[in-house]
Amino acid sequence: MDWTTCYIGLGGNIANEHGTPKEHLKNAINAFKNSEYFKNVATSSLYSSKAYGVTDQPDFINAVLKADTNLAPLDLLDFCQNLENRAGRVRLRHWGERCLDVDILLYGNHTIQNDRLTVPHQEILLRNFVLVPLLELDDTLIIHGQKINELTLSHDMKGLTITESL
Ligand code: ATP
Ligand code: CA
Ligand code: CA
Repeated sequence: MDWTTCYIGLGGNIANEHGTPKEHLKNAINAFKNSEYFKNVATSSLYSSKAYGVTDQPDFINAVLKADTNLAPLDLLDFCQNLENRAGRVRLRHWGERCLDVDILLYGNHTIQNDRLTVPHQEILLRNFVLVPLLELDDTLIIHGQKINELTLSHDMKGLTITESL
């Protein structure tokens, strides 16, 4: 079986009947750990971050998960969206509040561009709440030909606080 290392971005900023944002992230992390589609699951710290883009909303909890997966990219996206649905995600507004967001950040060194999927994630180089936890997991990553360790934003804690080391 072929295994590919993937990096998944997790985020959430509203509670619902299924839990708090932190609980949504932890449930999602457990779903990866308990699935036969993933092995060698590792997670960054949990970060609290100021909302990005649409700023009149609660702070987010963010983390990045690293795993080897035997899923093809679109099947991995289905897995991620299924986790969002199970957490009771309702789409309110673009970049708005959500209980759980699960994005594919990197899938091996593949570049993917189709109707459903852009990999590397299209905003990856613009978001410190993604780059800081990515650097924590692997400081040798290369994204769009750039060494993560050399990106200013990977070291920029603006708006970010570590809330929990997992
Ligand atoms: P952003 O993508 O800027 O972080 P968002 O996470 O709020 O914004 P969503 O509403 O969660 O956006 O997703 C919209 C669509 O993005 C999804 O239905 C999915 O098909 C598509 N998409 C494209 N590339 C990716 C990716 N790498 N990971 C997850 N979804 C993706
Ligand atoms: Ca997102
Ligand atoms: Ca998303």
